[in-house]
Amino acid sequence: MIDAKFTRMINSKLPSVDATIFTKMTKLANEQQAINLAQGFPDFHCSEKLIDLVSQMMRKGNNQYAPMPGVIELREQMAILIEKWYGRTYNPDTEITITAGATQAIYTAISAVVREGDEVLVFEPAYDCYEPAILMNGGKPVYIKLKQPDFSIPWNQVKKLVNHRTRMIILNNPHNPSGYTFQESDLKELEKITRDTDIVILSDEVYEHIFFSGEKHWSVTSSKILSERSFYITSFGKTVHTTGWKIGCIAGPAPLMKEFRKVHQFLVFSCNHPIQLALAEFMKDEDYVLEVRQMYKIKRDFFLQHIKGSRFTFTPASGTYFQLLGYSGISNEKDIDFAIRLTQEKKIASIPLSSFYHEHDDMKILRFCFAKKDETIEKAAEILRKL
Ligand code: PMP
Ligand code: GLN
Repeated sequence: MIDAKFTRMINSKLPSVDATIFTKMTKLANEQQAINLAQGFPDFHCSEKLIDLVSQMMRKGNNQYAPMPGVIELREQMAILIEKWYGRTYNPDTEITITAGATQAIYTAISAVVREGDEVLVFEPAYDCYEPAILMNGGKPVYIKLKQPDFSIPWNQVKKLVNHRTRMIILNNPHNPSGYTFQESDLKELEKITRDTDIVILSDEVYEHIFFSGEKHWSVTSSKILSERSFYITSFGKTVHTTGWKIGCIAGPAPLMKEFRKVHQFLVFSCNHPIQLALAEFMKDEDYVLEVRQMYKIKRDFFLQHIKGSRFTFTPASGTYFQLLGYSGISNEKDIDFAIRLTQEKKIASIPLSSFYHEHDDMKILRFCFAKKDETIEKAAEILRKL
């Protein structure tokens, strides 16, 4: 219990924020010794070569501060890759920064741009770190619900909500938790809507290499027009299976990046030095990201094949390493209650979709992470089939 004195002393800046659903469900899964398909992280190892590279970099003595924007080797390598993947050229000196994961890049970009009273468009279901960052900077989140059943963007509604107070639009593509992946037409709509405005786009593309439909990932950087007003953000956690290392990358036009770095240097100053150097070397492997995509496609199909015959309903995810499953044929419970009960009684943890909506819309849908070893997926699917 916090007494009145502390309530006054603290006067919380985020009164309605509690520990995140990922923290809560992982804690519960561990306590219950349940299979954790809740928080998104792989249960398999990253590459041995990458671990060797990190230890080599440490042994060579790269154990003091990295340069503030990140080591030049990794910024240069990212410039090469972004140009190869999306055809956009960024200057590693002035337009690319290495961050402590995507979360820090997102918080920093929002802090650098959003002021008191600014409106920021956020699509729901929304990943959890956008809203608090907007609120901490005095901004106003303006929520737009993604269309059902495919979670695509309702561009007509976006058009209506954009006004002179709109400072930023936050995109997440491929989309966590729905798996929706952008089409070229989405970028065209965004170009039209933001033309003649000062809107900054923050494009969270941490799952850029994990897509299963179409030939390419439609990064915001693939549009010249959009790239001139956008921050593109990615995370090595997803790409090289090292969510615990917390290294990400942000690219954007020099004037925006200049503002970003002003905040970045006082939030973290710089990030893990030996890991950045190791990643710069590791990311030279041209085929690596293709293998990641193929591996996750096989995992998604493996998961879906193994839950065949269950009473869950679903549309196969077209991106990310999450699959939404509808359970209205199994239970009427609220999604959060059902997720907790499944963890406690059936020993399988998931994330209720309502936790990605600020009003906790309950659609009787749970999110399951399939970034797991085959044996984990098999055990999980066996439980799900019996429900
Ligand atoms: N954005 C999305 C959509 C995510 O799912 C995640 C987390 N996995 C992040 C950002 C944060 O990435 P990081 O762990 O690199 O901070
Ligand atoms: N991005 C991960 C997910 O969606 C969670 C990361 C975290 O726990 N903050 O599950």
